[in-house]
Amino acid sequence: MLGATGSIGQSAADLIARNPDRFEVVSLVANSSAKALAEMAISLNAKSAVLADPENFEDLKGLLVGTGIEASAGEAAVFEAADRDTDLVIGAIVGAAGLAPTMAAIKPGRRIALANKECLVCAGDLFMAKIAAAGAEILPVDSEHNAIFQVFEAAEPDSVEKVILTASGGPFRTFALKDMAQVTPQQALKHPNWDMGARISIDSATMMNKGFEVIEAYHLFPIESDQLEVLVHPQSAVHGLVQYRDGSLLAQLGSPDMRTPIAHCMAYPRRMEAPVQRLDLASLGSLTFEKPDLARFPALRLALEALRSGGQAPAVLNAADETAVAAFLKGAIGFMDIPAAVEETLNAFAASGEISAAGSVEDVLNVDRGARQWTADWILRKAA
Ligand code: NAD
Ligand code: MG
Repeated sequence: MLGATGSIGQSAADLIARNPDRFEVVSLVANSSAKALAEMAISLNAKSAVLADPENFEDLKGLLVGTGIEASAGEAAVFEAADRDTDLVIGAIVGAAGLAPTMAAIKPGRRIALANKECLVCAGDLFMAKIAAAGAEILPVDSEHNAIFQVFEAAEPDSVEKVILTASGGPFRTFALKDMAQVTPQQALKHPNWDMGARISIDSATMMNKGFEVIEAYHLFPIESDQLEVLVHPQSAVHGLVQYRDGSLLAQLGSPDMRTPIAHCMAYPRRMEAPVQRLDLASLGSLTFEKPDLARFPALRLALEALRSGGQAPAVLNAADETAVAAFLKGAIGFMDIPAAVEETLNAFAASGEISAAGSVEDVLNVDRGARQWTADWILRKAA
């Protein structure tokens, strides 16, 4: 499990702990939290625990003394973990940091349950080409994509007219534009329906997350970008829909709990028990849908434009967003400065012609570094 201590990682760990006979944990990877990683490794009886950041290696080793669990740290150790023999890899690192380790996990016969959408946003063509070349299998964890995967007739892709991703609209769905400029990180982190990591929570509030998910869907499913649609659905009960040429509209519904899509991936093609609250349609009473408002949520517009621009525009989009979200969380910029920073960065890279297609992960990581620097400089200039 890559990204074991995060929100997705903890949900997966909960399912593993409830099914001790079904799963054997080969390796758990986290960034820097030795304590959380060691506790999880002990409770799941993992064979090894790996920290990406070597700084806390001694702590990890100390915490695992006498347990028989192997401890390691550093970049090479993460790649070594990704390469180990295992049936399933759960890709749940946050951000572009997940790209290289998740790519390293793609091997013949490997099944990857992918939560890290940045792999597909930043390097979708490269990632999917490597999956195909290796004969590996990718199962989408992201709830909308998992929903679509469950109702997508893979044997007959030509019969699909349209794929719809739903969005909750986040905490500011009904806010006026002028009020959105004033919101605080605490307000933005409070998602109405989902409990997630900090970065994706802010991305949900700006709706950048939905833009990323459109790009993710474009790479996961055999469809064109103009067949993808976003609908705001505040109840988060319907997660994704596929419309067919006979007029059928198929949807997957469930409570907003990531343990359902994670369990779907972990047991696929069978089903396993997940301890989630059952969706009670009678008590919900009604399900509502509305078109997204691109004027109040420019991040979604920027992501759709980046998908149309192609090349490395989506990698620039992600790098700028990661940088701007971190600055917003630190109080350095306002909420509406996030899409502003992303738009300025995208324009600068488009003008410089630096967003033509990537030939390798190294190309992607170079553009990623350059875009982060550009956004950070823009933020500094703005503060000055
Ligand atoms: P999180 O911040 O809660 O956890 C991130 C995990 O990644 C942690 O275990 C952290 O230690 C690890 N990590 C960070 N940098 C690392 C590095 N350089 N090397 C190794 N490990 C590193 O994030 P999350 O909310 O669990 O999201 C994880 C991914 O899943 C993101 O790409 C997110 O978009 C996607 N996702 C999350 C949810 C959700 O409900 N949380 C839903 C759909 C998709
Ligand atoms: Mg999602």
